[in-house]
Amino acid sequence: MPNPLYDALFAPMAGQARPLMSLPEGDVLSAAAFHAMVARFAHALEAAGVGMGDRVVVQAAKSPQMLAIYGACVATGAVFLPLNTGYTGAEVEYFASDSGARLMLVDPGHKAALAPLAARLGIRLESLGEGGSLDAIAAGCPAEFTPVDRADSDLAALLYTSGTTGRSKGAMMSHANLLSNARTLVGLWRFTPKDVLLHALPIFHTHGLFVACNVTFLSGAQMIFQPRFDLEAVIAALPRATAMMGVPTFYTRLLSDPRLSWDLAGHMRLFISGSAPLLAETHRAWAERTGQAILERYGMTETNMLTSNPYDGLRKPGTVGPPLPDVTLRIADPDTGTPLPQGETGMIEVRGPNVFQGYWQMPDKTAAEFRPDGYFITGDLGLVDSDGYVQIVGRAKDLIISGGFNVYPKEVEQVLDEMPGVLESAVIGVPHPDFGEGVLAVLAGTGAGPDLEAVEAAMRDRLARYKQPKGYVLLDELPRNTMGKVQKAELRARFRDRFQPREAKG
Ligand code: AMP
Repeated sequence: MPNPLYDALFAPMAGQARPLMSLPEGDVLSAAAFHAMVARFAHALEAAGVGMGDRVVVQAAKSPQMLAIYGACVATGAVFLPLNTGYTGAEVEYFASDSGARLMLVDPGHKAALAPLAARLGIRLESLGEGGSLDAIAAGCPAEFTPVDRADSDLAALLYTSGTTGRSKGAMMSHANLLSNARTLVGLWRFTPKDVLLHALPIFHTHGLFVACNVTFLSGAQMIFQPRFDLEAVIAALPRATAMMGVPTFYTRLLSDPRLSWDLAGHMRLFISGSAPLLAETHRAWAERTGQAILERYGMTETNMLTSNPYDGLRKPGTVGPPLPDVTLRIADPDTGTPLPQGETGMIEVRGPNVFQGYWQMPDKTAAEFRPDGYFITGDLGLVDSDGYVQIVGRAKDLIISGGFNVYPKEVEQVLDEMPGVLESAVIGVPHPDFGEGVLAVLAGTGAGPDLEAVEAAMRDRLARYKQPKGYVLLDELPRNTMGKVQKAELRARFRDRFQPREAKG
């Protein structure tokens, strides 16, 4: 009986004594032990009343148990719904209620606090991890489980988008969506059973969960499973790893440590970056220090991965590479959807077996984000260069329209980042009495920081007047979420009155 994702990722682990996960205290979990853990949890889910198609909300610390719940959901035909561990009770309530979840799994220490919420929504609540109530049920269950039958189009997971503006939406991921992408990435990035992936990403997000774990499982590789990115732990583990997947902040933090060297990282087969833009400067600095060209790729919750710089051949700094072999990508006019000539900037639209099934119980929102010919509108603006590599310019909602002219923040940020004393920048549009929106540069500095007047003067020679920031703000650091994305919505809210006349500021 087929269960596409289970058969490809979890079934082959049965009885295999090979290591699958190296854990922080030096423990090693074998593939066979993880396989048995998945089976026990699958029985435990059924004992907790979970059936085919039921949503299982999990807000728990990163652990092999949490990952085994993903496998157990796939085995039982349930839908895995992991949540950011930083979400508050009110946020958890929205996801649990919106998804109509059957079961909620939380850390043992949070169970009492979430009990009233679960009772209010009529959802069964169990705890997961060391001393967890679901673990206790699982301990008494058999180590073998016969997975239920599933079709390619059946749902395996529901991942809510980070939703920096408006309501967060549940992206429905089918077996085929996840499996096709894992297959493509294993091939493209050449993962084999010899690989040891250094895993320091969270597993509630597509990057650490599907990109990292599905690729490891499918290829028969193993991983060094760390609870979070900790500079010391990552540096200590690098000599045992062959590959690492990270967000750009992993790379900038490692670069800030004098121990990062050719000796420490030169043996690695592959460094991959994604989830947020990797500065070309970081790419170059990394290559100088380690002899390794970081492979940058691009994807999103709704689509899995879409583009990747090549394994062999040029990994171009500042680009996310060509589309994956089974992805069709076009640049279109954001308003009309008409494809634009090569080299022009517009909306990135995609099609492929990796693209999700739509937003959970939001048919109108789903319809609005697909073109009639089936392309998904990513919301990212970009262009395809003459070599076929994609360059992302930014989110469409971050586009600034100042005095009727389009200003792409990335273009301004690139110029600012080159200025002496500027570590990084975020360019945003905030209300402006004359221009509608005014360009505001938010900077984080190095050392003594930049001389803002000198920066302003230098910008005059570098960019057309309408692109030049009308104001500058210096912060200790730019606000980022756990995936390393700069929180522009937060900056826009914080500086929304920046260009308002004094009396209007209240
Ligand atoms: P998420 O759904 O949280 O994975 O966020 C997806 C978004 O992250 C994409 O739509 C892009 O805006 C951004 N993103 C992902 N990878 C990259 C990258 N390599 N460079 C720039 N932006 C990226």
